[in-house]
Amino acid sequence: MNLEDFLMKNIGKLPAPIVEWIERRVKKISSFSQKIEKEYDEIMAEIEVSVKPYKDKFPVFAKLPEAGREHGEILREMEAMRTLEESHWKDGYVSGGVYHGDAEHIDFLNQVYAINSQSNPLHADVWPSATKFEAEIVSMCADMLNGADQNVCGTVSSGGTESIMLAMKAYRDWARETKGITKPEMIAPITAHAAFDKASQYFGIKMVHIPVDANFRADVNAARKAVNRNTIVIVGSAPSFPHGAIDPIEELSGLAREHRVGFHTDACLGGFVLPWAEKLGYNVPKFDFRSPGVTSMSVDTHKYGYAAKGTSVILYRGQELRHYQYYTASDWPGGLYFSPTFAGSRPGALSAACWAALTSIGAKGYTNAAKKILETADAIKKEVRQIPELRILGDSLFVIAFASDTIDIYKVLDQMTHKKWSLNGLHKPSCMHLCVTLRHTQPGVAERFIKDLKAAVEYVKAHPEEKGEMAPVYGMAATMPMRGLVGDMLKKYLDLIFKV
Ligand SMILES: *Cc1c(COP(=O)(O)O)cnc(C)c1O
Repeated sequence: MNLEDFLMKNIGKLPAPIVEWIERRVKKISSFSQKIEKEYDEIMAEIEVSVKPYKDKFPVFAKLPEAGREHGEILREMEAMRTLEESHWKDGYVSGGVYHGDAEHIDFLNQVYAINSQSNPLHADVWPSATKFEAEIVSMCADMLNGADQNVCGTVSSGGTESIMLAMKAYRDWARETKGITKPEMIAPITAHAAFDKASQYFGIKMVHIPVDANFRADVNAARKAVNRNTIVIVGSAPSFPHGAIDPIEELSGLAREHRVGFHTDACLGGFVLPWAEKLGYNVPKFDFRSPGVTSMSVDTHKYGYAAKGTSVILYRGQELRHYQYYTASDWPGGLYFSPTFAGSRPGALSAACWAALTSIGAKGYTNAAKKILETADAIKKEVRQIPELRILGDSLFVIAFASDTIDIYKVLDQMTHKKWSLNGLHKPSCMHLCVTLRHTQPGVAERFIKDLKAAVEYVKAHPEEKGEMAPVYGMAATMPMRGLVGDMLKKYLDLIFKV
């Protein structure tokens, strides 16, 4: 066995800092890095076909066309692409992705967008309508999450990631100013959304990960042990993206309160489902501002709020934290400048569409939608439990994650992809999930999912010799000890995305 093979085989048994050290050294060995480069190029060439399907079908513009194109021609091309893409999500083949998707609802939001397309909340004097919509969006969300009487305030952002990053930045600046913390740390379960790691990287906050229990809920004792003088915030999800587990928010936020640090509930996914699920009689543990230790929450209007893509809400208990989010510049020659979020100019039309979604659907509409989604998820879970090769992970309401102890779950995922499904492959542990939306409540969709899933399992069992397409990539990404190399591969993938 040569050195490279030996390393690849045994490196996983070493402690992480040593692996990282070896990784840095190994990447400097040219024969090794050439080999890896070649491997990346081969993988990328293989997936380029599926990432860039329009190359030969539509005109390509690597530079501005000399003369402008006909509107009709542009619209026809876009209609053609929409037709190619639409059946996928419209007929419920996609996990998450499009959360509402009824034609009438989309047409209504499009009308609202058209009316407001020039609006920019940065110019509150010109578009007071935009600020009215945003103030009311925040207030409606605060009320829905039981923050109305608790001085809860917030802002509208561009999505869940921005909401989370804004909150982490606010905690960092709050802790520096009020407690003198210069080496801030956040405590988050490993299942918390990647946006928290992104915030950790962007804002220099050390990420302290805590494990989850057998039901994928954050380990409170581990959180207790992780708290120290530099802790600024503890995080929990309601529910988590991977397995749909609701962390013990009451206990975690109580711990945060005890130590006078912040607590953020990430309700990006569940914020517009759990309040109604609770009223419908489902077992929903406390997750919102009723727990006194919860000092901020993120909730995505562009998921189960059924708004167009591009809005989310970040909420804080009290104005003080929100002030640490704001940006103001008083000496800029461009004038007095201030903005609530990361962006400067913002699409007021998206806030208008969000407001229109919230007020046109109303509490009754959201309750009915939640009822349909939860019932569909229950029916699917019941059927998945009948498949002996599969095992549902945790005890979730509308995200159905499952693994297998007997077959390669990624091969099952590949087979589902052949049948047009676009499901999420997850790792650590290896599993896949279906995030149930209104698209899956259409007649026949749940039945089709189960039928296809059973057939996929049978196929994988009958063809153990077949490797599958993505299964080896998932397998490698899940088990490769040198995580930096996996990261490099993802960067190559992003390069591919931006290739004309
Ligand atoms: C989707 C999601 C996010 C991030 O939201 P984006 O809108 O994709 O930026 C954060 N947390 C959870 C639990 C989510 O499901």
